[in-house]
Amino acid sequence: MFNKGSELINLCNEKQAKIFEIVIEKEQKTSGLSYDEVIKKMKETLEVMKSSATSALNKEIVSVSGLTGGNSKRVQDYKNNHKTISGEFINSAMAKALSTSEVNASMGKICASPTAGASGIVPSALLAAQEKLNVDDDMLVNALFTAAGIGEIVAKNATVAGAEGGCQAECGVAAAMAAGAITEMAGGTPSQALTAASFALINIMGLVCDPIAGLVEYPCNLRNASGVINALISADLALAEVQSLIPFDEVVEAMYKVGKSLPESLRETAQGGIADTPTGRKLSDEVIK
Ligand code: SF4
Repeated sequence: MFNKGSELINLCNEKQAKIFEIVIEKEQKTSGLSYDEVIKKMKETLEVMKSSATSALNKEIVSVSGLTGGNSKRVQDYKNNHKTISGEFINSAMAKALSTSEVNASMGKICASPTAGASGIVPSALLAAQEKLNVDDDMLVNALFTAAGIGEIVAKNATVAGAEGGCQAECGVAAAMAAGAITEMAGGTPSQALTAASFALINIMGLVCDPIAGLVEYPCNLRNASGVINALISADLALAEVQSLIPFDEVVEAMYKVGKSLPESLRETAQGGIADTPTGRKLSDEVIK
């Protein structure tokens, strides 16, 4: 039905439909499931996301390696007890992104969106937007279909693997999915949703994948926190009618080219970036011993 962003927008225009409606229709066709069954499955996904985004807010969940844990609670406590620099809303979104990241690092249940390493961004962005827009869960389910449609286009035309495209392909794509989804949820047009997704990718283009000890923990944890903010501001930029000079499909293509041009040391091999600092190597030795 659609492989590119431009095809998705054409379909939306032809059918006078939102992105989520086109994606639900496509999902029904490809899976053979009824509308109700497709929605039910996405509702289950939403519940997993809600649980992972909130379970580390009030209790420290530490990873098996001990490299990460407790940051979600730290940010949540900080937000509750201090006058913060970036405000309650931003800190609340970051705490939720960190929560899912910590649940993932402790082998808990998360929804890869698009990957486990970047799994905190979509749930926290959606929950933050829900709080702001005062919308019900049905709107979040619709937004997840929008996010899925955007993620699918990137997966088809580029990559969502850090090992292939760097962290821009994981946290960047997650932010793009989230940005598009919340833009549409806030009343933006399908074109504005893809503009928001473009902004999110442009904002972090070239971001390398450099996990300490090769574990999906650090800097992944931090990048989930920054990823949700990228998604939120990208949505606001698009909703404010800031125009993307480069169309979404070309941004995706550029991201893929950049990813392929990254040296292997910066694509999840733990041989470059912060993984290859003296402290990064020392931590790696301690974890792997
Ligand atoms: S740094 Fe690498 S492993 Fe971690 S989230 Fe980014 S792409 Fe995934």
